[in-house]
Amino acid sequence: MRIFKTPALLRFLYPEYVWQQPNTKKIIYLTFDDGPIPVVTEFVLNQLANFQAKATFFCVGENIGRYPDIARQVVQQGHQLANHTHNHLRGWATPTEDYVQNIQKCQEQISQIQPENGVKLFRPPYGRIKKKQFLKIKSSYRVIMWDILTYDFDVNLAPEQILQKILKKTTAGSVVVFHDSVKAFPNLQYVLPRFLHYFTGLGYSFKLL
Ligand SMILES: [Zn+2]
Repeated sequence: MRIFKTPALLRFLYPEYVWQQPNTKKIIYLTFDDGPIPVVTEFVLNQLANFQAKATFFCVGENIGRYPDIARQVVQQGHQLANHTHNHLRGWATPTEDYVQNIQKCQEQISQIQPENGVKLFRPPYGRIKKKQFLKIKSSYRVIMWDILTYDFDVNLAPEQILQKILKKTTAGSVVVFHDSVKAFPNLQYVLPRFLHYFTGLGYSFKLL
């Protein structure tokens, strides 16, 4: 089963992670994981610019190293880079020491492009992080999970299905996960512009976490 909206129980069990933001204003928090990737990330940037939307990019450090110019464009256009480990590690399958070092390695890539300004943002790949790992990083990072998972990476889902689901489930304060990855691109190309158009029409804006 695909769970588009994070269940309240999970948010209740893990209050130390950020799942959504206050829902008092018509703001949606868009996040893009796993980039930067040529063509895909550039497509995302163009779409965001069309709607004056700002977004947070949870980057894999390795990809920043490969495509620093694209990471630079992300920052220049008013978006922010955030940490998604250097090699997209699975927290539950990785010793804590290695995991923390890998996060640090990603942060070094980020800091070459984006000046540090206080609290850094981290999203664990697959949403999986051990308590021990969390305790090690919590003084330096806010751990950002999500409220809405788009499943844009799922090649068995039609983009129309994805769009229908997420238009229904997204609310004020939602943290929405997309992927600027090659795998997600076919779905993303259909879903993202329509999502932005729909919520802009309803008076929503898109801001940085
Ligand atoms: Zn990821």
